[in-house]
Amino acid sequence: MIEVRTSKRVEIVDITDKVREIVEKHDVTDGITVIYTKHTTTAVIINENESGLKEDIINILEKLVPVNAGYMHDRIDNNADSHLRAILLGNSVVVPITNGRLDLGTWQRIMFVELDGPRTRKVVVKVIPC
Ligand code: ZN
Repeated sequence: MIEVRTSKRVEIVDITDKVREIVEKHDVTDGITVIYTKHTTTAVIINENESGLKEDIINILEKLVPVNAGYMHDRIDNNADSHLRAILLGNSVVVPITNGRLDLGTWQRIMFVELDGPRTRKVVVKVIPC
């Protein structure tokens, strides 16, 4: 399990090194790792960790799912946009393990997406030989 402390309402946090640490503690030569966020207002994505691109991702989410656009769920806790953005991005990713290591592409990073922060969040990492 990885604990992620976020400091903004919407924030993208690179968790690749923490996932790698967990994977390398397991004695798995070939398999998969599942990275899964346990929250309804967060997501996990794989993409490039480049500051401009991270801003672009946040901006496109704001355009696609604006805050307080008349959502039903806002009547309950005023964070419908966070849930809807989380649905668009997805709450888990799978990465192959090859020769005991995360088999990511050159520019690929595993990134946690906070959509209703700042909060402390939990991300489950499972390592499965296969
Ligand atoms: Zn809610």
